[in-house]
Amino acid sequence: MILIDNGHGAETPGKRSPDGRLLEWQWTRRVARRIVDGLKARGFDARLLVPEDSDVPLRERVARANAIEGDILLVSIHANAAGRGEWKQARGWSAFVARNASDASKRIASLLAKEAERRGMAVRRPAPGQDFWVQNLAICRDTRCPAVLTENLFMDNREDLKAMLSEEGIEAITETHINALSSYSSL
Ligand SMILES: [Zn+2]
Repeated sequence: MILIDNGHGAETPGKRSPDGRLLEWQWTRRVARRIVDGLKARGFDARLLVPEDSDVPLRERVARANAIEGDILLVSIHANAAGRGEWKQARGWSAFVARNASDASKRIASLLAKEAERRGMAVRRPAPGQDFWVQNLAICRDTRCPAVLTENLFMDNREDLKAMLSEEGIEAITETHINALSSYSSL
């Protein structure tokens, strides 16, 4: 089963574009639903970790994932921000795994980054040739399954935001996940 986590809920304050046109919780729900639908259309058992709109605490999300029996993998969908409400220069797409990440998590992160690049997104790398970042992320660290977090462009960069609000941009982001996760799950 492929679990898609759509992160923050409606009560999360502050996580929005400087002009207020994009709210992270709303946007990630839209993207996550499209990824789940796309994976289902390809015959995969895909589900939303957080079907509700409200905030579900990280600990509860981890517990939900860990309660599922069998082979699962998890991707947590986010929108990046470099500042605190003002426009910034940083832009691009990036994948993260936890410090204790399994080889499977790293393989999935790599597939996602390569697919994002193929779809024309600027992939941010910690070093040349390295497809993902390593960070202390609870959703990846505390879940027992392979887990990756994706930061899908910067909502406080004007060009990235334009892409995030366009059908082409959303398509590139959703197809990145659908293709990479299908190819991993078909192995
Ligand atoms: Zn986030």
